[in-house]
Amino acid sequence: MTAVQDLVEELVTANHILAHERVLDSFGHISARHPEKSDHYLLSRARAPELAERRDIMEFTLDGQVVGEITGKPYSERFIHGATYEARPDVMAVVHNHSPNVVPFTVTKQKLRPIMHMCGPIGSTIPNWDIRHKFGDTNLLVTSMEMGRDFAATLGDHAVALMRGHGCSVVGRSVREVVFTSVYMELNAEMLIKALSMGEVIYLSDGEIAAITNGRAGFTFERGWENWCRRVSRPYVPRSWDMGAGFSKTDT
Ligand code: MN
Repeated sequence: MTAVQDLVEELVTANHILAHERVLDSFGHISARHPEKSDHYLLSRARAPELAERRDIMEFTLDGQVVGEITGKPYSERFIHGATYEARPDVMAVVHNHSPNVVPFTVTKQKLRPIMHMCGPIGSTIPNWDIRHKFGDTNLLVTSMEMGRDFAATLGDHAVALMRGHGCSVVGRSVREVVFTSVYMELNAEMLIKALSMGEVIYLSDGEIAAITNGRAGFTFERGWENWCRRVSRPYVPRSWDMGAGFSKTDT
């Protein structure tokens, strides 16, 4: 298979995993930067993620124009993806979701930060983008590049940004990394809501989060990915886990 075909298969699997792990429901999406054309990305047509198939994966320019052979109705919020790839050359995959335990943190002053070691990659600071600041009363959907770029400016260098009254978007250096971060983002939010109901919470320190993030081995993503593939009956394709920025053989 070519690199593009490999990535299309990976995206189909990621769609199914994120739906199964309750990050996505009938809505929300995951994209990947095109492996040969860095100014293009791949994203399913507007369809419930757990139903996504190879023939649904469309190709777009960063400004959201449909290119390539596969056509269909695109997601109206695809501009989140293009604007993020435009602003962040390091980002190779983007998830946009409405994961249910995250949304409460978008509409309250309660801070969302890691409380458990597996959740360190969500980062110590998670900004909250409010579409109303620049665009007034809308249906809250990110339906233009202007909106997408405003969101990407709030995301900055972070791994995750909340979207008030809507959900969040998560970025990563690979499909497997962004799936991992998205799953643990939702789990951390769920655990944090429970912990807050019990009393004062001790969050991970900035130093602990840095130690976790810097020491995270690709093997960790592989271990999760293999298990999540099995849960959705998708083939597991092993990846070399000493590849890419931040992956190190020595810290496994
Ligand atoms: Mn949305």
